[in-house]
Amino acid sequence: MDAKEVLTKVPTQLFVNGKWVNSSTGKKIPVYNPANDELLVEIQDASPADALSALDAAVAAQDEWAATSPRYRGELLRKAFDLITERKEFFATLMTLEMGKPYAEALGEVAYGAEFLRWFSEEAPRIAGRFGSNPEGTGQIIVAKRPVGPSFLITPWNFPLAMATRKIAPAMAAGCTSIVKPATLTPLTTLAFVDLLREVGVPAGVVNVITSSSASSVSNPIIEDSRLRKLSFTGSTEVGKMLMQKAANGVLRVSMELGGNAPFVVFEDADLDKAVAGALQAKFRNIGQACTAANRFIVHEDVADEFARRISETVAGYKVGDGLAEGVNIGPLIDQDAVAKVGELVEDATKRGAKLLSGGSKIDGAGNFFQPTVVDTVPAGSEILAQEIFGPVVAIQRFKTEDEAVALANSTEYGLVSYVFTEDLNRGMRMIQRLESGMMGLNTGLVSNAAAPFGGVKQSGVGREGSFEGINEYLETKYVLVPNS
Ligand code: NAD
Repeated sequence: MDAKEVLTKVPTQLFVNGKWVNSSTGKKIPVYNPANDELLVEIQDASPADALSALDAAVAAQDEWAATSPRYRGELLRKAFDLITERKEFFATLMTLEMGKPYAEALGEVAYGAEFLRWFSEEAPRIAGRFGSNPEGTGQIIVAKRPVGPSFLITPWNFPLAMATRKIAPAMAAGCTSIVKPATLTPLTTLAFVDLLREVGVPAGVVNVITSSSASSVSNPIIEDSRLRKLSFTGSTEVGKMLMQKAANGVLRVSMELGGNAPFVVFEDADLDKAVAGALQAKFRNIGQACTAANRFIVHEDVADEFARRISETVAGYKVGDGLAEGVNIGPLIDQDAVAKVGELVEDATKRGAKLLSGGSKIDGAGNFFQPTVVDTVPAGSEILAQEIFGPVVAIQRFKTEDEAVALANSTEYGLVSYVFTEDLNRGMRMIQRLESGMMGLNTGLVSNAAAPFGGVKQSGVGREGSFEGINEYLETKYVLVPNS
């Protein structure tokens, strides 16, 4: 789809109480294309007062929305699924323009993001409680589910559609109204998606969107307001921790989907074809900018040379460029800070003795490009092993024993996902027990699925998105005792 045409159709205002409105500040924020630094459009810069207007709208709509039938809510979500699927080229083009991922991957995200609409359209009518006698036999215990209430949904820039639908769909299905704050770097896909919700008939006030150049100045008044009941955040662990502290004042329900530092463990008995294919997927999807990106490749010494060689040869053939251009495998990073950070991590590792097998540098010129890179024998203590790389860099460590592999894999404060490649079923089962992560891919480099509970342990978060667990994040449990008469 033509990029110019896509941009003419994107809403750029705030969406409050069913209407597109200007910010009260009169200020605007530019949104750039990370592939060529060109200005795409300008969006509204909301004030704290605008944020509170969005909360007012969500609060005003809450009771009526909670009283709608689950079937009705489900059917709205299903209509949204159908329409976004019909317009997949529009959404994919928009996502590549603002975020940079290759177009084929953007199409993949439209399918993945839309799946949350379909999944939760099916979950809405299945919200159920329990009913049973108390142990004494003197009364009936009723356990009912109720919507939590107005929810504040904050999303990151790296998956502009899926991170929004993964929150908005279960909130809507559960009967919660919401205020959404997309990342300032990539707000357009969310704005277009919310317009689609308007188009399918979602009532005014049910979903509101604010965009701002100062995340904290619009978020704090909402989080501090006693009418808010829930905060769902996807983003960095650093910001998540701070928001959890703020949310504590109002004893808000919180869901936190935070950073990761995924180990990718390849045992000597792995099928190397599968391991290499999984590694490329787990590393280079989204240009390495995924919370689930494999961050540390922990490879048995017997197969490490072969593994490193095959990865290096493949990435040397990758085409780097504008994600809308034909055949591009690796798009730009989100901004120049990201390029600088990735460069520093690689430099730190090589200074400490890691071997550079391919790439290693930023690419000069317009856009935020970094070469696909492989560094081998990365020494313990290197920053690249401790931080989220968020770039196209494979960092390999070697191990001798299973215990050593487990110790290396778990030596992080994060615990989002781990990947394990082995053809030994018993070893695979042991790894399920021993690796500290909320998710695990056993002989696969991709775990995300709307029907599965996505989330982390340790400092990777609290709560789950997707699956049955995903809607529970927006439901309260209400217990009633009815004595037998
Ligand atoms: P970020 O924490 O900088 O920002 C995330 C969102 O929070 C953005 O909308 C931002 O504007 C907002 N924000 C920032 N400071 C805030 C404040 N003080 N108050 C309120 N809101 C604030 O993260 P990012 O750079 O956008 O995204 C990358 C991070 O997200 C990585 O750490 C990645 O691992 C993580 N992530 C996690 C998951 C997951 O499901 N676990 C998924 C995607 C991304």
